[in-house]
Amino acid sequence: MGQANSDWHAKFPAFRIAGNLYYVGTADLAVYLINTVQGNILINSDYKQDLPVIKQSIAELGFKYADTKILLISHAHGDHDEGTAVIAKETGAKLMVMEADLLDEESAAPGRPGAHVDRVLHDGDVVELGGYKLVAHLTPGHTKGCTTWTMQVSDGPRTLNAVIVGSPNVNPGYLLVGNKQYPQIADDYVKTFTVLKSLPCDLFLGAHGAYFGLKTKYEKMKGGDPNAFIDPEGYRAYVAERESTFRTEWARQQQNPGSPAK
Ligand SMILES: [Zn+2]
Repeated sequence: MGQANSDWHAKFPAFRIAGNLYYVGTADLAVYLINTVQGNILINSDYKQDLPVIKQSIAELGFKYADTKILLISHAHGDHDEGTAVIAKETGAKLMVMEADLLDEESAAPGRPGAHVDRVLHDGDVVELGGYKLVAHLTPGHTKGCTTWTMQVSDGPRTLNAVIVGSPNVNPGYLLVGNKQYPQIADDYVKTFTVLKSLPCDLFLGAHGAYFGLKTKYEKMKGGDPNAFIDPEGYRAYVAERESTFRTEWARQQQNPGSPAK
C-alpha cells in the first residue's frame, strides 16, 4: 500500500492486454481478468468502494462478473484485497492466497477483508482453470506472502510471458533492520529481487499501474501499437531501479538502526 492518489478510485477503460488476459482495474489499482472456457480468474479486488467500477469494466468487455471462478491477490493490503470477501460471496469464486498472507487475508480488522481462504498457496504452486495455468511466485518483503503471478499468454501465433509483479516496494514506516514482527524482512526482499530477475518477461504488469506505465502504454495501444504492453527492457530496468532503492534504504537503516523508511 503506497501513498493514496486520485487514480486509485478512478474508472479506467477496460481492455485486452493480450490473448485471454484483460485489464479491469482502476486508473492505478490493477485488476486482471483471465478468461477461460470454464469461467474467469480475477487477480485482486481493490477496495470495496471500487467494486462497482470493476464490475462495470468486466461488463464492458462482455464478460459476466458471476462467471468469476477463482480469485487471487497480489498481496494482503487493502488497496488490492479489501473487497475479496464480497466478490467471493457474490460469485462463489474460490479465494486462493499465499500461506504467509493468510492471517491478514482472513483478518476482519478495520480495512481487512475478513475473507475465507479456500486454498492456501505455496511458492511455485500452479492455479489452473480451463486449460490455463498461472504460477504463484513467493516474492516477500512488502508483505510476508506477497505474490508475483506469471502465465503464458497465447496471442495469435506468439506466446508471451506475462509477469504481474506483487510489489517490490519498501513503504514508508517499514523497518528493515531490527524488525521484531518481521526479522527476516530484508533477506526476503533480497530473495524477491533474485526471483524477479529470474523471470522471463514479455508483458510487464503489476499490482499498480504506475509500476509499468499503464496510462502511457494504454494510449500507445489506442494509438495503434499492439505491442505497447510488451516491454522486457522496461521490466528489467524497473526491477533494477527498485532493487537499488531497496539496497540504499537497507544500507541507511543499517547505519541508523530503528530509523524506519520515510
Ligand atoms: Zn501494498
